[in-house]
Amino acid sequence: MRSRRHLHTALGSLLALFLTLLTCAARADDAPPAPGVPPPPVPAVARTWPVGSHPLVLRGWEPPATLYARGHRGVDLSTPANAPVRAVAPGRVSFAGRVAGRGVVAVELTGTDLRTTYEPVTASVKKGDEVEAGDVVGTVELTGSHCGATSCVHWGLLRGEMYLDPLGLLPPWLLNRGPSRLLPVLSF
Ligand SMILES: [Zn+2]
Repeated sequence: MRSRRHLHTALGSLLALFLTLLTCAARADDAPPAPGVPPPPVPAVARTWPVGSHPLVLRGWEPPATLYARGHRGVDLSTPANAPVRAVAPGRVSFAGRVAGRGVVAVELTGTDLRTTYEPVTASVKKGDEVEAGDVVGTVELTGSHCGATSCVHWGLLRGEMYLDPLGLLPPWLLNRGPSRLLPVLSF
């Protein structure tokens, strides 16, 4: 009997501890986000790739260790020069112009706190324009990319000043369809 009572007491203590933890978790939800709390995930709002139907990713996203550390703050998509560049989701153009000699278009995505950037791109839109998914925002410039001899579009995604992986915007049906992203070995 005594051992059973002890067991009950122990179970009661565990239950109390569990309820306390639950209460703390609920309180934590109400509190403003503390430093170090992971940011909300990137919503898969894109309805098209910026270029082509499924471009080759020449270089993926390499998050920098700190805000100013080295890394690759976006993805490089293989595309011919002068190809049209499309808004991946509805939004408003927040920048269309040149930065350090490169054409840059930035679009704030409707219903999110995110903005995408495309470069090097000669803009065919201007700041303040509303765009739908698939609307052409400019054309790929021949020079100014960091893909060497190959022309490419550097596609970026930002929440405030924090860079994120733009591929996170693509729903699985866009990310996984079409030609394989692996280069065929026999073509060399
Ligand atoms: Zn790049």
